[in-house]
Amino acid sequence: MVKPPTREAASGLRAVARCDELGAVPYSDSDEHLFRPYLGAGHAAALDRIAAWMTEAGMAARIDAAGNIVGRYEGRHPDAPALLIGSHVDSVRDGGRYDGMLGVILGIETVAWFAERGHRFGFAIEVIGFGDEEGSRFPVSMLTSRAVAGVLGDQDLALADAAGVGLAEALEGFGLDLAGFAGAARQRGDVLAYVEAHIEQGPVLEAEGHALGVVSAIAAQYRFRAVVTGTAGHAGTMAMRLRHDALAAAAEMVLAVERIGGAGPEDLVATVGRMEVGPGVPNVVPGAVTFSIDVRAGRGAVRDRAADEIRQALAEIAARRAVTLDLTVQQDLPATPCDAGLSDLMAEAVREVTGAAPRILVSGAGHDAMVMAHLAPVAMLFLRCRGGISHNPTEAVMDEDVQAALEAMTAFVARLDRASFGAPPKEKEE
Ligand SMILES: [Zn+2]
Repeated sequence: MVKPPTREAASGLRAVARCDELGAVPYSDSDEHLFRPYLGAGHAAALDRIAAWMTEAGMAARIDAAGNIVGRYEGRHPDAPALLIGSHVDSVRDGGRYDGMLGVILGIETVAWFAERGHRFGFAIEVIGFGDEEGSRFPVSMLTSRAVAGVLGDQDLALADAAGVGLAEALEGFGLDLAGFAGAARQRGDVLAYVEAHIEQGPVLEAEGHALGVVSAIAAQYRFRAVVTGTAGHAGTMAMRLRHDALAAAAEMVLAVERIGGAGPEDLVATVGRMEVGPGVPNVVPGAVTFSIDVRAGRGAVRDRAADEIRQALAEIAARRAVTLDLTVQQDLPATPCDAGLSDLMAEAVREVTGAAPRILVSGAGHDAMVMAHLAPVAMLFLRCRGGISHNPTEAVMDEDVQAALEAMTAFVARLDRASFGAPPKEKEE
């Protein structure tokens, strides 16, 4: 008989309770809201707590050269390659309690579940809590998964935070040093795969009544800067038919971006999120407008086609209104497909737990998994979150969804063991 989950043994309920515990001081750098920046006091306190939970779950816990917490649960043979299960422990300012942290805690619960039953595998399991995913302290994101994947750039080591504290100094405050930072890099042969459970941070699973989803890819992203130049003039004397109003043109362009984004597959999204109007004065016809365009899709070709359509539509609007348009690419991130074999195993695990075909979806948000894909095959499990809300203190999950996620993770690990090593894990009779 299946025992109901409790807070004492490995369970989704305990995972939620642990994330809630880590949502306030001393695990936050602010007593008003959750803010856990990389290498801050809240980060240090959280790592102490997480290390204790890892040890209790049968893992050897350590902090790596980049400030990531790593717990290792040995396989049947020492030095076996590791299945990495993880996510990030940092948060944005005034963030939610489950973004990132839930994936780390679910990793610990997964190991605890097997440890309680005496299961070992042909691979080790390592749970990793990345110190920085959000760009919570320095003006770049995914700094610490990039260190682990061995894809840091020289410019990453020269970073300083908003208060002018450099990465070297921040690391020293954590008992680490810049010279060793890149030493967090892992060898390919040591890592079997990377798996991340994360809240969806979007509304699709909830809208369609699914507790869990399997991620097929992390979206390709373009960010453009558009500058529309018209002619500024007196709002009282400039005849309407003689105007070259940069803002009116830009408004039409925003609607074109929205229309093109909405005309593709569901994972195609296009957004204008920022706009500056010059001179920005009530009695002057706007002469110049600068705005951002963000375009994402699960497949690069879909994104590129939408971006081409946007370029064409905006050029046509500019020509018709006799304003000039200057469009520059500011960011071009390729899509990261999740590994098909691992994702199939995850989909089977979800089906086993929920009894239904899993919802397959593209992640529009970036995750550590997209970086870890440079090192090893990756898979991602998404959990439904209330209203699709994230990066917000009202972020919420349901206990039963987290329990389902834990069961899917354990089913995935057992299936990976059979797929990799051909033998089922030894069942201990209870
Ligand atoms: Zn996250």
